[in-house]
Amino acid sequence: QKPQPSDTAIAHSFTPKTIGRLAREVGLFSEEVEQYGTTRAKVRLEALNRLKTQPDGKYLVVTGITPTPLGEGTTTTTLGLAQALGAHLHVNSFACVRQPSQGSNFGVKGGAVGGGYSQVIPMEEVSLHLTSDTQAVMAASSLVVDTINARVLSELTQSDKVIKKLYHISTNIIWSLYFKILLQMFFTLFTRKICGIGSVASEMMAVLALSTSLGDMTRRLARMVVAYSRKGRPITTEDLGISGVLATLMRDAVKPSLMQTMEGTPVFVHTCPLSDIAQGNSSILADQIALKLVGPEGFVVTEAEGGAELGMEKFFDIKCRSSGLHPDVVVMVASVHALKMHGGGPAVTAGSAMPKEYSAENLTLLENGCSHLKRQLENARAFGLPVIVAINTFSTDTDAELGLVCEQAKLAGAFEAVPCSHWAEGGAGAVALGQAVQRAAETPHQMNFLYDLEMPIDDKIRAIAKSMYGADDVELLPLAQQKVALFSKQGLGNLPICMAKTHLSLSHDPEWKGVPTGFTLPIRDIHANLGAGFLYALVGTVSTGAVTHSYELLSETNGLRLSFIYVG
Ligand code: ADP
Ligand code: MG
Repeated sequence: QKPQPSDTAIAHSFTPKTIGRLAREVGLFSEEVEQYGTTRAKVRLEALNRLKTQPDGKYLVVTGITPTPLGEGTTTTTLGLAQALGAHLHVNSFACVRQPSQGSNFGVKGGAVGGGYSQVIPMEEVSLHLTSDTQAVMAASSLVVDTINARVLSELTQSDKVIKKLYHISTNIIWSLYFKILLQMFFTLFTRKICGIGSVASEMMAVLALSTSLGDMTRRLARMVVAYSRKGRPITTEDLGISGVLATLMRDAVKPSLMQTMEGTPVFVHTCPLSDIAQGNSSILADQIALKLVGPEGFVVTEAEGGAELGMEKFFDIKCRSSGLHPDVVVMVASVHALKMHGGGPAVTAGSAMPKEYSAENLTLLENGCSHLKRQLENARAFGLPVIVAINTFSTDTDAELGLVCEQAKLAGAFEAVPCSHWAEGGAGAVALGQAVQRAAETPHQMNFLYDLEMPIDDKIRAIAKSMYGADDVELLPLAQQKVALFSKQGLGNLPICMAKTHLSLSHDPEWKGVPTGFTLPIRDIHANLGAGFLYALVGTVSTGAVTHSYELLSETNGLRLSFIYVG
């Protein structure tokens, strides 16, 4: 059997229809569409207003088992399912996916959104600038940082004079160097008072994804805490007098971008909040507009990044809480390879041959790994909806292996389990999945949240840790305990929780595959993202790379001056 061409070669073999035609097909008016070139467009929020009274379509969320380096293909399955519904089962369908970050595209993923015969095209456009939303977010966060800089500088003039005077008292060059170092050490201690600056870009993206209108976005941007005064008082963008400008910078970014799959079905590509320190889901507005456009008989397929315990939990408890939308079906993507790894299969290293455990049939490993699938299925079922397991098949999977996963999934309470081949065959390979989804959407169901907002902060964290991750308990380290007390006192205790945890394990340790048990989940710290509207809990050693990185950058450019912010 000939190997399949590369994602790039396949993407280039399809010619997209013009975006104007696609927009008309999905029922948009020309005045609601802002074209960027011939194959991309932004959709104005007026469309949502016009369709307000139209009933929503069915709402499907695609999640997965815990990711492994072997790939599960949740994005590929999201697109394959939308192609199956829209181009083969002839019902209206819309896929809603996140915009890929350029870093991951140039690195691991090779540039595609999706893969094989289930992709968004044109691939270069969707992978790179798209409609410049990321650039708007970067410009807005630079503005915040620059404003803080300017404020600090102007308020420093006085103290600077003092420092300079002191500095010039000493005439000896060596002494003056020592003196400078001492001054620096002294002020470095104070710079610790500034925090949160680095998460500005990340929180803005989260805001964009959770906003339900331009006004809502404007209010959220104004609430964002971007610095603290030396006395510990939170400083918002409104305090800095820049919330209006931020909203202006982001007013185009809040409109979803319309593109298409290889089979000409519509896709919204919108926002890219990180899946660890933010909510990891595409935007509420994209989902809302898509649900109106497909109409009551249609389907919107949206992807929740990371394993079900992470992206899907945030989808329900954060995104759906903000949007008020009620999903109908959960699709859980699994692959035979990945389940074998969860069942104790060897690690794989890039560039070396695939271990035989993965390239040949191995029912023992697979059966072990099904305990992980079962756990994630329980997680998905905790929200009250029918769950369909989609097995994204790879060319090395055997019939016996696929049969085993289906059987185990059904035993664990899946509504149905369906092997699909949309990577190799496009939508035609996911028709059975599409039909299963249609059946599931017809069953009576009632979505519920995992926890009550009124619960104390630590109890909400405990509820997620115990029921989603399988932890025995949580341990709040001293800093986290202080924050719980502080936020409760400040009246922020009723916000939802965004867990910042590794996506590579159900636990806090990325090395623990399968179903980790007998562990206590350590909570290092808790931050409040008041714009996004959640508290985020840092679990174990999870890296908030963005935060420290920008913090350092900022302290580098500003030297020692960060301690001097006073506002109001
Ligand atoms: P995820 O959303 O889970 O991160 P993606 O859908 O983005 O995963 O797919 C990751 C990579 O795996 C893509 O390069 C895609 O081409 C590849 N891939 C997905 N499904 C298959 C499959 N069935 N066979 C081979 N490769 C696949
Ligand atoms: Mg994905």
